Amino acid sequence: MRKKWLWAVLAVALVAGAGAYAKRDAIAMNLLKRGADAAMARNTLASLPKDQLHVAFCGTGSPLPSRDRAAACTAVIADGRVFVFDMGEGSGETLSLMGFPLDKIQGVWLTHLHSDHFEGLGPFTLQRWAGSSAEKPLAIFGPEGVTEITEGYNAVYRIDSTYRIAHHGADVVKPSGFGMAGTAITPGPVYDAGGVRITAFAVDHDPIKPAFGYRVDWKGRSVTISGDTAFTPALAQAAKGTDLYVSELLSPRMVKILEDSARSAGNANRAKIFSDIQNYHISPEQAADVAKSAGVGMLAFTHIVPSVPKPLEFALTGRAVSRFSGPIKVMHDGDVISIAGKDKFETQNLLSR
Ligand SMILES: [Zn+2]
Ligand SMILES: [Zn+2]
Repeated sequence: MRKKWLWAVLAVALVAGAGAYAKRDAIAMNLLKRGADAAMARNTLASLPKDQLHVAFCGTGSPLPSRDRAAACTAVIADGRVFVFDMGEGSGETLSLMGFPLDKIQGVWLTHLHSDHFEGLGPFTLQRWAGSSAEKPLAIFGPEGVTEITEGYNAVYRIDSTYRIAHHGADVVKPSGFGMAGTAITPGPVYDAGGVRITAFAVDHDPIKPAFGYRVDWKGRSVTISGDTAFTPALAQAAKGTDLYVSELLSPRMVKILEDSARSAGNANRAKIFSDIQNYHISPEQAADVAKSAGVGMLAFTHIVPSVPKPLEFALTGRAVSRFSGPIKVMHDGDVISIAGKDKFETQNLLSR
């Protein structure tokens, strides 16, 4: 009796399966339509509480290739506006996938002119122009030399822009909004509007000069992004009392393993580069020291060198936890930390939705 019942269930399942298989094209298109509707209507900004300062991680990687981490990019969201700090390769795409409206990007502030901090600008600027009918070029701020980069990009994309305008029309892709406009800045206040204050400070990334970190203050909340830097006492000074300290992370002991492996494999050049990079980046322990002496609420690591599989990530931070008692996090692409109040942080990932 029981066997017969099983056969009946199996037969029904087979018929249903065959029916679904026959309609698979319609089902696929239906699912696609639902996904497209949701994606087009998505506005991450609307879902983030307006009275909080948010820090979005649009690129947590480095020049070392990684499919999981785009190169350097951190965005700060205050009062419904998006301020981007660095835009390494792939990070503009990540920012878009996180659902931030392109027309809300106020500009990009570069920490320094290493290419892993600006290689995402080209494709992102094109997306923003065509995707949001921008009327003005994207504003890019950075150390002396930044205009050489923005003018170079504008030259590279000029031919493409003529095709876009010819194809879609100047009302859709407005010629005035094409490309980017670079402005060289120096340490000190670099933005002050609508209660949002951005301050640039010099860091030590020798021989890359100048190199900056940035601090963003808004309504008593703050975040400091140190960029690429060796340890210097100036870091704690700049980050004094900030809620969230965003530091790069280079694990010296892991990079030493890469250096040794490169040498064993007979690649002396690569071994030399792995050896060199250790002297102009901060170690996790030193970053924890900065966090402690600056009295920050939380330490978030980005620009992860090297990118390792998730189960091994705990080893990246070395002994940092013994030097800073607040929360320490290794960030991933898509993460957003919301600063809800003093020592009140909430983290979510916008790519895993
Ligand atoms: Zn650098
Ligand atoms: Zn870098």
